[in-house]
Amino acid sequence: MNGTDFAEWSRKAADWGVAYRASLRDRPVRAQTAPGEIAARLPMQPPQTGEDMDAIFADFENIILPGMTHWQHPRFFAYFPANAAPVSVVAEYLVTAMAAQCMLWQTSPAATELETRVLDWLRQAIGLPEGFAGVIQDSASSATLSAVLVMRERALDWNGNKAGLSGNPQLRIYSSDQVHTSIDRAIWVSGIGENNLVRIPARGALRGMDCDALEAAIVKDTEAGYVPAGIIACTGGTSTGACDNIADVVRIAHRHGLYVHVDAAWAGSAMICEEFRHLWAGVEEADSVVFNPHKWLGAQFDCSAHFIRNPADLVRTLAIQPEYLKTHGRDGIINYSEWTVPLGRRFRALKLWFLLRFHGLDGLRTMIRNHVDWSAKLCKRLRAGDNFEIVTEPAFSLFSFRHLGAKDLDAHNLALVNAINDDGRIYLTQTRVDGRVAIRFQAGQFEMTESDVDTAFDVISEVAARMPNAG
Ligand SMILES: *Cc1c(COP(=O)(O)O)cnc(C)c1O
Repeated sequence: MNGTDFAEWSRKAADWGVAYRASLRDRPVRAQTAPGEIAARLPMQPPQTGEDMDAIFADFENIILPGMTHWQHPRFFAYFPANAAPVSVVAEYLVTAMAAQCMLWQTSPAATELETRVLDWLRQAIGLPEGFAGVIQDSASSATLSAVLVMRERALDWNGNKAGLSGNPQLRIYSSDQVHTSIDRAIWVSGIGENNLVRIPARGALRGMDCDALEAAIVKDTEAGYVPAGIIACTGGTSTGACDNIADVVRIAHRHGLYVHVDAAWAGSAMICEEFRHLWAGVEEADSVVFNPHKWLGAQFDCSAHFIRNPADLVRTLAIQPEYLKTHGRDGIINYSEWTVPLGRRFRALKLWFLLRFHGLDGLRTMIRNHVDWSAKLCKRLRAGDNFEIVTEPAFSLFSFRHLGAKDLDAHNLALVNAINDDGRIYLTQTRVDGRVAIRFQAGQFEMTESDVDTAFDVISEVAARMPNAG
């Protein structure tokens, strides 16, 4: 592609993106396509000769776009958000244009030094004490995996990477039954094995793990010859926003010499507002904390902020230095690829820098507070209507509900969620709470307004009222 064409198509792509964002409220939130529909429109063979950009772009609009679910749609209330604030998109254009691979300090000193600084801004923003060092991971899953690997190495006296697990004592990791599936996978991939993930039942309004049961399990395992290695606590669990009592978890961990990782992938963003910090009180004593600015905060996916109290343990677990990766003659530099499982790294700090500078913490706090308020209002309206039941109370901006009035409530609510998503004006997902189907609602999309939540109420009520066995 020559310079003139590159300029023209870059401009077209940017203009397209602006028009796309402006058009979102007129589009169905979830893709309204059947499995295989998009694939059927794609040629089976690769092109042998180059094609015209106009043709490629037309196919993008005609074939690809209809198969997209619109995550930046202001009425995206499903899962958790993956917000890309416009300013972070602009930063990503620049990152994409430079396309640097920032694995070592010397492969782009600015990327490393900016990462150190903006992660320290974020540390202050969420109220973590000095002494935590930050690194950007591609996902909370990767951050949790690296934390579990540190737990493993610490507990095996730094002998796991070398000797493997078969000749070593059996490790145990503890979490509640509310944690994300990324914890299961970290346990699988680390070789510790699912049988050694001890799930402590959650209880109470916040669905935090039962800390008496936690300590009893640690003591029992120790007596039985296992080696307890660490605890994974959560703040804002994925299903219903469960929050462990971090202070109690940490106290028990310290008594038994265990490492504590806190998964706050979604809810960590809310901690820029002081009034939510009581929900993770004690976090300052944890060893490792992850949250995703690419969820609620608005830094375009992917951007996961991982804070570690003692990065030397992480580097000792993950760093490998073959000669071709050594940086000679420079002291005191950080090579962030020694802090993560993948070697290669995108320049992710730039979008955070743009985001934090453009909106300021005050702007982002206003957004979070609005979402929490609007979600609470919707919860109140649904509760007041006599055909809805609130299943779990709001945790930050997440609650769950179900529609009553059918015999088989699980099947009825699954059908309702599908009908709502087929309607297209809003997008919701379901979960199970104590075995029963519930519909989740979270407010968190970067550009949503209060009227979008009013629309959600209208759609939920309308679609529920016309369900076959409603009433
Ligand atoms: C979203 C989420 C994850 C997974 O995040 P990735 O960055 O996609 O790996 C983990 N834990 C919780 C609580 C989450 O909400």
